[in-house]
Amino acid sequence: MDEQNRNDNRDGYENICAMCRRPESVCGKLLRMPPNIYLCESCLQKSFDMMSSMNMDDPNSLLGNIRFVFPGGMQGNQTQVKPKKAEQKVEEDVMNIEKLPAPHEIKARLDEYVVGQDHAKKVISVAVYNHYKRVKRQDEKAFQDEVVIEKSNMLMLGPTGCGKTYLVQTLARLLNVPLAITDATSLTEAGYIGDDVESVLSKLLANADNDVDRAEHGIVFIDEIDKIAKKKNTNSRDVSGESVQQGLLKLLEGAEVEVPIGASSKNGMVPTTKMNTRNILFICGGAFPGLDEIVKNRLTKSFTMGFNANLKNQFDEDKDILAKVSMEDLREYGMIPEFIGRLPMIYALRGLDKEAMKRILCEPKNAIIKQYQKLFAMDEVKLSFTDDALDLIAEKALTKETGARALRSILEEFMLDIMYEIPKDSYIGSVTITADYIRGNGAPIIEMRS
Ligand code: ADP
Repeated sequence: MDEQNRNDNRDGYENICAMCRRPESVCGKLLRMPPNIYLCESCLQKSFDMMSSMNMDDPNSLLGNIRFVFPGGMQGNQTQVKPKKAEQKVEEDVMNIEKLPAPHEIKARLDEYVVGQDHAKKVISVAVYNHYKRVKRQDEKAFQDEVVIEKSNMLMLGPTGCGKTYLVQTLARLLNVPLAITDATSLTEAGYIGDDVESVLSKLLANADNDVDRAEHGIVFIDEIDKIAKKKNTNSRDVSGESVQQGLLKLLEGAEVEVPIGASSKNGMVPTTKMNTRNILFICGGAFPGLDEIVKNRLTKSFTMGFNANLKNQFDEDKDILAKVSMEDLREYGMIPEFIGRLPMIYALRGLDKEAMKRILCEPKNAIIKQYQKLFAMDEVKLSFTDDALDLIAEKALTKETGARALRSILEEFMLDIMYEIPKDSYIGSVTITADYIRGNGAPIIEMRS
């Protein structure tokens, strides 16, 4: 606070901004103007912005003859302050997208984090490789008249918690491209309560630190896409189903879109910017409950011609039935043909079995157990799990039917007491979690330091 301001509020009252009426403690330092007016920085900025949009040189303009003089040599035409560029996070293990890693290299990196799902990892690696190859080629002016390679947008099917989102998140992190994750259920047709489809691009732009160029090469993941399937037997307008699919068409295809900055829908008050979605990779994901029945029925019909009932049982037992999905099945499910047509890569992720759950606990680079071990190591305590304890945790997780998501909550439940008790005694050297402890029949094995 300068000397003048200090003198002014010696009587215990705070100065307030003459425009927004907020006190100095709320809106920050106030600028004093003659004769005795105070303005906060944001109101001052707004006044500048307003003046700069008027023609100050027009002699007929009311403002034409007014000139502002500010103490301290402030420029009257300074209307914008360049925001500080956010620090770029540089991670060591990211791949260089400019050098375009080959599909097998991308898959090898994904293997370090995502357990199983080999087919999905292979498809996604090839699709991403082709996508960025296409983007690179398109950016080079010399090749712009060539054969146009179509986008390789994807549709991922698979039960909840099997790693759909995690796969995309890992991919975006490894490639160091911005990623936006949206839930299709939050989207509605423009003008209705909910987010406009363009909001997915607003998120992407925000995640790219408002760098339009970077955002235009990013990835958008739209989860729960099955929830915008066309509603059956409805006479009313399907604003959160078919209309959203229609709205997404132009984004998936590639179009110039007016995107609200920092908001989920367009209106007169929100600034917008133009973004081209031509090089944005769209990945849609969903569990599609009930789709397996549609696939089974189609397969049974086409194979049996009505007299081989054994085949029906065979399909019933097939855990990989979603891998046999066709466009026709998705159309029957309620996805409109134009929408599926813009997602040329369709593949399924498998539900996780006990073995996969066990591996997820310990194998990935940032596996949950490794994270706990690291936390304990900071207190110089060695943490280990017996094999049957891991079996039991995996079995418990399977019963919850939320996929690998259940693992963390189960472990947290068991680890809470241990994490509370262990730091009490600095002589503890190691803790072993046993199956009995998980069953609630005993305590973990604790060894003291020698
Ligand atoms: P969804 O398929 O419903 O999108 P997520 O990808 O969000 O499921 O998975 C939830 C969590 O489970 C992830 O954050 C990840 O830690 C873990 N997970 C799921 N599948 C795998 C997998 N195949 N490999 C490693 N971790 C996984």
